[in-house]
Amino acid sequence: MSGMISDSGSRGRTRLAPSPTGALHVGNARTFLINWALAKQHDWEIVLRVENLDTPRNRPGATEQAIEDLRWLGLDWDEGPSFQLDDLSPYENALKQLKDAGQTYPCPATRREIVAAASAPHLDDHELRYPGLYRPPVAPPIDPDAEVATRVIVPDGDVSFVDRLAGEQTHDVQQQVGDFVLSTKTGLPAYQLAVVVDDHRQGITDIVRGDDLLRSTARQIVLQRLLGIEPTPTYWHVPLVVDEDGRRMAKRRGDTRLASLREQGVSTERMVSLLARLSGWDDAPPEMSAAQFAEGFSLNQLSRRPVAFTQGDLAWLLQNNQ
Ligand code: GLU
Repeated sequence: MSGMISDSGSRGRTRLAPSPTGALHVGNARTFLINWALAKQHDWEIVLRVENLDTPRNRPGATEQAIEDLRWLGLDWDEGPSFQLDDLSPYENALKQLKDAGQTYPCPATRREIVAAASAPHLDDHELRYPGLYRPPVAPPIDPDAEVATRVIVPDGDVSFVDRLAGEQTHDVQQQVGDFVLSTKTGLPAYQLAVVVDDHRQGITDIVRGDDLLRSTARQIVLQRLLGIEPTPTYWHVPLVVDEDGRRMAKRRGDTRLASLREQGVSTERMVSLLARLSGWDDAPPEMSAAQFAEGFSLNQLSRRPVAFTQGDLAWLLQNNQ
């Protein structure tokens, strides 16, 4: 498959984009493996991008750990790693472009103020809708010493796109989150801006990631449109792996971390085999390499619903592994 060239003669490009906020768990590993396998099947180039802008959440050693985990799984890439923190100028330029076009405004509001002012129900605990407190032209005066974030003026109305896995999506970004942050009070670019800028400058055509980012995608398309970025990449949002109680996997829950499973003697081949079964490949051989996974995996098998990593799966991984 590695010799496959797309019809147009130009190769697609995808990215593996770990955040160094903790060790990779089984769910992250499955998404990365599927991303890599799709890249092999479609002959996409792969860029490794370390998304380390969320500095308060970065953990020491997590970058090296993520790269080691990906290599241990048997994944490789054509370019990178690149590190977002190494050069902020591409994000600053995009921010300036939006500022100059009058599409942003400064906002000193604290989370507490936003909570107090938010009348609309919010989507979940983490995602408050910003109710436009400092949106021009009615913004109250801002104390010149106040720390300010920069927000984007989000147009009203629906954003629609067709996800290759999740199907047709329609989101009203203004209703969901309102004018979201492009640059934080510490002056660092926010995820939504950075990812749009990087996907564009790195020539990414196909984005494969967890479907917890479906709503973010609509925000990213808003930014692409405001920045004049075309075409919008193709999105493939993979349903998440959850625990037995249906809860989202957290990096902090020890047993599901790749590094801790590896320390307990789990081999790459065993892990990939489990990830294959979690990807709907029910009769996957009990040991397989990432390359074998890429050869045999089909998206038709992949459940469009969250899949559980169970205690039974964990026990199976740990069997006969010493
Ligand atoms: N760095 C993000 C994460 O680890 C992924 C963002 C993306 O794929 O756009 O969750």
